[in-house]
Amino acid sequence: MKKVFILLLLPLFSWGQKSSNLESTIKLNYANSILIEDLKTHIHILASDSLEGRETGEQGQKKAAEYIVNCFKKAGIPPYKCKTYYQKFKVKTKGHLRQRIILKQKNIKGENVLGFIKGTDLKDEILIITAHYDHLGKKGSSIYNGADDNASGTSAILEIAEAFMKAKKDSIGPRRSILIMAVSGEEKGLLGSKYYTENPIYPLEKTIANLNVDMIGRVDKFHENNDYVYLIGSDRLSTELHNISEEVNRKYFNLELDYTFNDKDDPNRYYYRSDHYNFAKNNIPVIFYFNGVHEDYHKPTDTVEKIDFEKIQKITRLIFLTAWELANRNERPAINN
Ligand SMILES: [Zn+2]
Repeated sequence: MKKVFILLLLPLFSWGQKSSNLESTIKLNYANSILIEDLKTHIHILASDSLEGRETGEQGQKKAAEYIVNCFKKAGIPPYKCKTYYQKFKVKTKGHLRQRIILKQKNIKGENVLGFIKGTDLKDEILIITAHYDHLGKKGSSIYNGADDNASGTSAILEIAEAFMKAKKDSIGPRRSILIMAVSGEEKGLLGSKYYTENPIYPLEKTIANLNVDMIGRVDKFHENNDYVYLIGSDRLSTELHNISEEVNRKYFNLELDYTFNDKDDPNRYYYRSDHYNFAKNNIPVIFYFNGVHEDYHKPTDTVEKIDFEKIQKITRLIFLTAWELANRNERPAINN
């Protein structure tokens, strides 16, 4: 990543249009520090055979957690409450039905990995950005690498964390605090996010929104090019959140924001199927970023060479600038009556 701008220029500009243009330039410079080559490095490592599909409770998941911790350390992000990056949980899974496979009840030990970027004048309010880093593990000799699901989203939040931290080091850190949380236990029933919302580190009342990233590295059969992302949930609890998200996209990216799966009658029910739902359940506004399913979904063939890194870069930058807006504006997004 390169050095981006000179803060000393700031007083030379008068308020109004010029300062807002300058603010845009500053934000965009940090967004542009999110690069394909860094995203690639993360995904190659997370989706490698040596991590054995990152099944929650298994060795591969622990290795993935260590990798995420090292990325946080390298970016200069302290652990939450200055002690540990891990929120460990132990849960008994129910013998529930998921993807037509009945899982037997067993004890699972997992951990969420949390990096905390402390805000300035509004530091008591928290924006949470999540992606699950666990996947399905291996069956026999087949490894479920989960490059799209969800090494893609994990790589995105690592780069977002790094970009915010870079701004903070340049003394323009976020006004609100940002909690970057890599979640485990997702594939076994959203367990890590459920544990967090039942045992929150920071008060849920002060949690202003959750942006959740799950599968952003592929193009589905309903789209011809990579200029789109499905958004789910953005308007359900806060129209203001939806409007902010739309405006950031219109101003800087012009991706097609596809709301097909946001329809309340959509039979796929994706709104209930990734970690954001545990926040939404607690009346916290959410946006779920998702590229849709594809022929390799939940198969050993979800591998890194099929990933569209340009797509991940675009969506990651969109999420970063949306987060920037949420973390820095005067008011938190209002909940609908
Ligand atoms: Zn997933």
